Amino acid sequence: MALREHQPAGETCVICGQIKKSGIHLCNQLICDSCEKKIVETEVTSWKYRYYMNKLSALKLKNVKEPAERVK
Ligand SMILES: [Zn+2]
Repeated sequence: MALREHQPAGETCVICGQIKKSGIHLCNQLICDSCEKKIVETEVTSWKYRYYMNKLSALKLKNVKEPAERVK
């Protein structure tokens, strides 16, 4: 997992690990536009959906206090 302190520009997407400037903030972590789209488009029955949900639930456990924040 990338360290947030070492980002030159933008933030590291917690899903794809790439530096992105826009997306949604969930628990102070960035999920980039393309990953958000993928999550939305992924069928619930797909293994990918479980993969994303695992990532997201891991975040929630770490940062329960922070509410989701939309960035546009
Ligand atoms: Zn991403």
